[in-house]
Amino acid sequence: TTFSDLGLAEPILKAVAAEGYTSPTPIQAQGIPAILSGSDVLGLAQTGTGKTASFVLPLLHRVCQQKGRPQPKTCSSLILAPTRELAAQIADSIRAYGQKVRHSSTVVVGGARPMPQIRNLARGIDIVVATPGRLLDHMSTGAVRLDQTTTIVLDEADHMLDLGFLPAIRKILAALPAERQTVLLSATMPRPIRALADDFLRNPQEIAV
Ligand code: AMP
Repeated sequence: TTFSDLGLAEPILKAVAAEGYTSPTPIQAQGIPAILSGSDVLGLAQTGTGKTASFVLPLLHRVCQQKGRPQPKTCSSLILAPTRELAAQIADSIRAYGQKVRHSSTVVVGGARPMPQIRNLARGIDIVVATPGRLLDHMSTGAVRLDQTTTIVLDEADHMLDLGFLPAIRKILAALPAERQTVLLSATMPRPIRALADDFLRNPQEIAV
């Protein structure tokens, strides 16, 4: 398989080539078409497998396909990550892979001043990368609205569980529209993550690499 076989838009193919990637990794070969199809995805994948690109590329592809679209209402796609560090890495990947895509992205994490985050969110953002606690804070003050969010990605779900974020994640998922795409990635599938998937994913395509 090549990246162009996966049906990604030209600006994304260019960015991927500029990164020096010659072919998709297994999680990318399986995950990218699954996410592009719009179905829910349950992926068992470790760090280092190329999992970040497997969800970032389809999200950017979708932005490409929406040229001339209205400005998003606070948050079109949401990526949840367990730590600030991982959120920052994901944001770096969005920047790298989205170099040739006109898009907006922002990071919403604890330990940073909330005001700039609030201002950014108010502008309308294509892709928000967040840690669960700070996102919940912004939800409670109305700084972020998720009622028009069409895709959510939970990255390293087992790590979020270990950090005690499961109640926050459940609240966030419950606030999203019923008609949405949910992508859940985890390095392991402990029972609470299985239960989360059973409660919040609809007919997910399951991927294991
Ligand atoms: P991740 O599993 O998302 O943390 O990615 C691990 C590393 O693999 C990162 O440094 C990526 O830049 C790199 N990478 C991701 N996809 C590819 C690919 N298709 N070919 C080569 N390297 C890749």
